[in-house]
Amino acid sequence: MARNRTNAISPARGEDFAEWYQQAIKMAGMAEQSAVRGCMVIKPWGYAFWENIQRSLDAMLKASGHSNAYFPLFIPKSFLEKEAKHVEGFAKECAVVTHHRLEPGPDGGLVPAGELEEPLIVRPTSETIIGDTYAKWVQSYRDLPILLNQWGNVVRWELRTRLFLRTSEFLWQEGHTVHETSGEAWEETRKILGIYARLAEEYLAVPIIAGVKTSGQRFPGAVETMCIEAMMQDRKALQAGTSHYMGQNFARASGIVYQSREGKEEYAWTTSWGVSTRLVGAAVMTHGDDDGVVMPPRLAPAHAAILPIFRDAAERETVLAYANALAESIRRLGSPWNEGKLLAVVDSRDMNAGEKGWEWVRKGVPIRIEIGPRDIAKDAVFAARRDRPPREKYSQAREEFLASLPATLKEMQDGLFARAKAFLDAHCREIDDYGDFRRFFTPANPEKPEIHGGFALGHWCGNQACEDRAAEELSVTIRCIPLDREEAGRGKCVVCGGDSKGRVPFAKAY
Ligand SMILES: [Zn+2]
Repeated sequence: MARNRTNAISPARGEDFAEWYQQAIKMAGMAEQSAVRGCMVIKPWGYAFWENIQRSLDAMLKASGHSNAYFPLFIPKSFLEKEAKHVEGFAKECAVVTHHRLEPGPDGGLVPAGELEEPLIVRPTSETIIGDTYAKWVQSYRDLPILLNQWGNVVRWELRTRLFLRTSEFLWQEGHTVHETSGEAWEETRKILGIYARLAEEYLAVPIIAGVKTSGQRFPGAVETMCIEAMMQDRKALQAGTSHYMGQNFARASGIVYQSREGKEEYAWTTSWGVSTRLVGAAVMTHGDDDGVVMPPRLAPAHAAILPIFRDAAERETVLAYANALAESIRRLGSPWNEGKLLAVVDSRDMNAGEKGWEWVRKGVPIRIEIGPRDIAKDAVFAARRDRPPREKYSQAREEFLASLPATLKEMQDGLFARAKAFLDAHCREIDDYGDFRRFFTPANPEKPEIHGGFALGHWCGNQACEDRAAEELSVTIRCIPLDREEAGRGKCVVCGGDSKGRVPFAKAY
């Protein structure tokens, strides 16, 4: 089947990127739609990738002094009402629990009964419930800082969903910290952004632009939202992580008050920050090709897939023994990032070898190794790298292959980042004229828009009105105000011609 096609999945990215993405996820066995509208089932290959993301980030958070804790899934409605902007931001997408019991109905079904006195909201984010808890924990400056993180799920009712990118329920981590001073809370906000940037670039091999959100794009209730933005292969932006400086807003709303060193009652300073299973989608849309998913080796659920090839039972035994021994040798190799061992799986399923090979191509396993009687006779492996065309394979003496595998994986990881960085740079364009700006974001075929645009680096005067105009006319937003914005010098706003301190990336976004 796959042999007769040019690519292992269809359509190609250039034909229909959105559909290519769905197919890539599906054919890799990473996730699928569930029977519950808007909610996905994360399958083992997708979940193992998420677990590796989780494990890496968790280690970085712990190394920087944070601990994990867990807070309730439900939030009393009154809690959510405490911070006006916060309510406004999330009210439209809340799942609300109003009853606590089911009773047999008149026609044999079940009907909700036992109405709750106060409805509960399935958390869209946990600032309010955690704030309420912190108010009880914090009495004095001696109780600060509180540096906690929670791994969990949240629900934001979405009507238009896409696997990993936008689903009603998703997995994430949310950090919530409390500090004695504004300066410390700011330092925390920036520190976390730095950790997210490292996670994206060094682990996921996804290059990012770090910055601060404009007021229009800020988290509801935050004083400032910092973010990392990545460019997908359809040249749209994807917000990959956010870190919010809350000032004293949530401390006021939740009553987080402490007695200062001078003996005065003060509101504390808080932050919150999160990344989600969206990162899985970001990696797929950054590295995937027309043959499917390409896993960044550092976080791949397996580094090598060994595919035994045999004709009969006698060959089977010899080949499997050799394949299992090879897998064991790979498992003993340390990873090139000095974090654990390499992982190899032997795929001994009884199915067509060609089909099996293509399946691993679509899954994006970094290295595929075919082992047949001829390879065994030479004590060699027949291998293929996922960052090269699927039919490009090489034979290598087993010992030599094993000795070079960690370096090969490192080279692949660095190569993926370099390729993605070159793509980002190639599609960032300085634009100074609104006509050019409009053309940049206008597809040649509006019926079936081709991949177009990118990040337009335009000057911006700082007025919300100019961002709103770009959003209304071209569906583009300012993705962030880059941290190094002012280095390149002043200019004139691409929308209104007003004075600007520096360029910002405008883009269509997920
Ligand atoms: Zn302007």
